[in-house]
Amino acid sequence: MRSRMISVERLEALATRALAEGGRLATWRDNGRPRRLVTWDLSMQCSDVIGVELNARYSANHSKVVKPMTVILVVRCRKCEWCRKMRSRFWTGRAMAEYGHAQRNVFGTLTARPEDHFRYDTQARVRLGKRGVDFDGLHEREKFEARCVEMGGEVTLWLKRLREGRDGQPKPKFRYLLIAEAHDSENTQSVMRMRPHFHVLLHEYSVPLILPHEVKVIKKDDRIIHSLEDNSFVRRNWYAGFTKFEIATDPKSAAYLCKYLNKSLAVRVRASQRYGSGFIQNNNASSACSSSSKNEKGEIDPPSLGTGKG
Ligand SMILES: [Zn+2]
Repeated sequence: MRSRMISVERLEALATRALAEGGRLATWRDNGRPRRLVTWDLSMQCSDVIGVELNARYSANHSKVVKPMTVILVVRCRKCEWCRKMRSRFWTGRAMAEYGHAQRNVFGTLTARPEDHFRYDTQARVRLGKRGVDFDGLHEREKFEARCVEMGGEVTLWLKRLREGRDGQPKPKFRYLLIAEAHDSENTQSVMRMRPHFHVLLHEYSVPLILPHEVKVIKKDDRIIHSLEDNSFVRRNWYAGFTKFEIATDPKSAAYLCKYLNKSLAVRVRASQRYGSGFIQNNNASSACSSSSKNEKGEIDPPSLGTGKG
């Protein structure tokens, strides 16, 4: 079991919340001193739960005498099949909600050239090196995460260009979901292995991202595809490599994208603020565990524990 110290004020607040939302309290006497233990199970059907023991760090300005207390949180592993399925389901629901409310939806892929991946590795090496972490000594999955941070910077610049819009034109209004996945198939070249590419869903609201002349209609296997031209605004603003985009004509494309989340551990999600949540009523799970994580609101973090991740 992991253990952590948090301030006594936060621990008390957490215990109060736990008890209000299904946590269990046990009390006993330890050498004549009363002790309290609150256990709060947030793991649902995760098959590989993680226990986190929280004890109080007494702050200088805390003058009250409080009985010693421990809170044990039982949280999801985020890795087992059930956790992955839940993650995929969570984002599918949100993507479908955005899809249904947007005026138009576009999905596509952003990839980077080997030389750009080489640059991301170099940047990651320098960035982590400053914190005393040896990039080359990391596990493949950790390397993938570091690469996602670097390539994510490139994606941020792309989103900024899209938000800026065309010269002298109104700024486009859109929301996005990005799923980073590792190149990792049988025939992936070694220079590309475990390097990220991004699956993208863009939801257009009121001011369009795409102009009519930027769409070409092609027929592929009896399917009509509304594909974006190479020099379309969305595609030409990605500088790092190959892109492919098409206009979504079926809400299934949103669900299809989220299936990647189920597929592998080497997947990261990033989305517009409050993505989809404006349209969806919070269910019990997400309200009980309103996450402190910035990007992955679907992940259940121990409440008020800050950014510590498993
Ligand atoms: Zn799990």
